[in-house]
Amino acid sequence: MSITRRDFLRLSAYGFGTTFLAACGFRPGDPALLNPTDLPALSPTVISQALTELGFEAFADTVKIYQDEQYLYVESNGMPAHQMMVGITSWQQQVPVPQSYAGSNAWKIPLHPVIAENPVSAKTSLYRGAIALAVNGIPIFNALNNRGDDALLYGELDEWGGHAGRADDYHYHVAPLHLSEIVGMDKPIAYALDGFPIYGLTEPDGSAVTALDEFNGHFTADGGYHYHGTHTYPYINGGMRGVVTVNGDQIEPQPRTQPFRDSLQPLQGATITGFETPADNSYALEYQINGQKYYVNYGFNGNVYTFEFVDAAGNKTTETYTKPG
Ligand SMILES: [Zn+2]
Ligand SMILES: [Zn+2]
Repeated sequence: MSITRRDFLRLSAYGFGTTFLAACGFRPGDPALLNPTDLPALSPTVISQALTELGFEAFADTVKIYQDEQYLYVESNGMPAHQMMVGITSWQQQVPVPQSYAGSNAWKIPLHPVIAENPVSAKTSLYRGAIALAVNGIPIFNALNNRGDDALLYGELDEWGGHAGRADDYHYHVAPLHLSEIVGMDKPIAYALDGFPIYGLTEPDGSAVTALDEFNGHFTADGGYHYHGTHTYPYINGGMRGVVTVNGDQIEPQPRTQPFRDSLQPLQGATITGFETPADNSYALEYQINGQKYYVNYGFNGNVYTFEFVDAAGNKTTETYTKPG
């Protein structure tokens, strides 16, 4: 497909700086973009081409995208295609259930990121809520948990860098570097909530990453800015190099999650050893304490959630909850 000058202007205006426009100097994260005055809506073909370049296309079945002049809106149910929970050795007894990141509760990624005069460090703040969104529709929280500890080093994360929060909401606390294998090294694996993209372990052209700032980011030769995921702290964007609004230590706007059962305590000595999806809307988590196996079998029908807890002797207890919303 050929991109006309008119398409180019529309894409640029809407912040879709993409690699097929790279010859013109536009990339995701370019802070300087045209004013979108009076531009007609993008054609579906052009949007889908742009989204391919933005890295979301591989997840088109589960992640929906739309946009206005200000934001890229991302809808998902917060459940990744990969297995979850296995490998966690410090577990709060929460489990992943689908979330309603849709409509007015969709993710909003600024299309015109702006470098902040006073960047916000995630070392000392942003302990609440997400700081980025992975292209598979899973939120990414601060690498430090809400007590200020490195969640990865404390054994709180599964093999994919995630776990379930108090609303039984699955999220990562480190960069989901495995997504690079799906989207390609030349595409972002996530977007920080300031709008700047997060790439994997290499530059988009495959070259080595050099000279990252304290936010795990750097300016590009053409004046853009982006972050990288890394294997060591801060793992993900180490704060917000771009302009964001922070309210109560949390970036706004961002979707709400709502706990529907009492917050639980860490389960001493437990290691999560299995997680399966035996049927639609049905999950089976296996954990071990001192080599003995326990299970949490749970699932939902509409907004009614049933949990079956099975102890090492095979005794079962059942709890039922209605999830609001
Ligand atoms: Zn968490
Ligand atoms: Zn880079």
